[in-house]
Amino acid sequence: MEVLMADYLGFCYGVKRAIKIAKEHVSTEDNPAATLGPIIHNPQMVERLKNDGVGAINSLDEMNKGTVIIRSHGVGPAVYDEAEQKGLAVVDATCPHVRRAQLAARDLVNEGYSVVIVGEKNHPEVKSIFEWTNGSAIIAETVEEAETVTPAAKLGIVSQTTFSGENFKAIVLKLLDKSQELKIERTICTATDQRQKAAMDLASKVDLMLVIGGKNSANTTRLYQLCAEKCTTYHIETAKELVPQWFDNVNKIGITAGASTPDWIIKEVYEQCQKR
Ligand code: SF4
Repeated sequence: MEVLMADYLGFCYGVKRAIKIAKEHVSTEDNPAATLGPIIHNPQMVERLKNDGVGAINSLDEMNKGTVIIRSHGVGPAVYDEAEQKGLAVVDATCPHVRRAQLAARDLVNEGYSVVIVGEKNHPEVKSIFEWTNGSAIIAETVEEAETVTPAAKLGIVSQTTFSGENFKAIVLKLLDKSQELKIERTICTATDQRQKAAMDLASKVDLMLVIGGKNSANTTRLYQLCAEKCTTYHIETAKELVPQWFDNVNKIGITAGASTPDWIIKEVYEQCQKR
């Protein structure tokens, strides 16, 4: 059995940075520290961090003193204000690419554009970008949703950083008819582009693809969807989910992993596959 790894997979720059920042701010008795929401969308990594002394809270209501760590997905301006009012120290692990999307959206609003965020409505990063438009943006995840956007004199577009490049293009094409003046900020990050292209490339060469990552991870789910268009594909969080029957009549397995999947989990899956 041949086991091939995608050229780009696993932790991206923004996730590595967020975890490093979180590890530098472990809770102490005098100074409790917690991330606002799970630092990344990977339950195994979040659990490991919790055991190392970096827990997570769901809301600032849960914290009266100490340090709040903003996760890679970012937050809206109101959260910074609230933390300041409560006297909390803020450590900002927002990925710089997410920050760029937030500020691009804010600037477009300030320049008089009606803003469309191309992305998933319920994703925390998209919610954070939305907050930077004072809640004025429209969110479009599909071409059908783009069709319903009201025409505007000036239309500005930003993207969720982990959105599919192909889908972004299709949605932008649909929005072309909606305005005389269109400003496009393609804020999809390089890590996402690289992982998606490498995954699709590998999926077209193997019999079976394994996509490793949190079931709650948008970028991992996107990798799964793209690979599933090319060959039989399974989305797993850990090696424990591998099913022996998947490997019947399979000669070549491809492995990829989302930007929030730790190396140790990828290694375990790789080693298990090599034993087949
Ligand atoms: S996928 Fe891109 S935007 Fe998201 S955390 Fe990683 S580097 Fe940042």
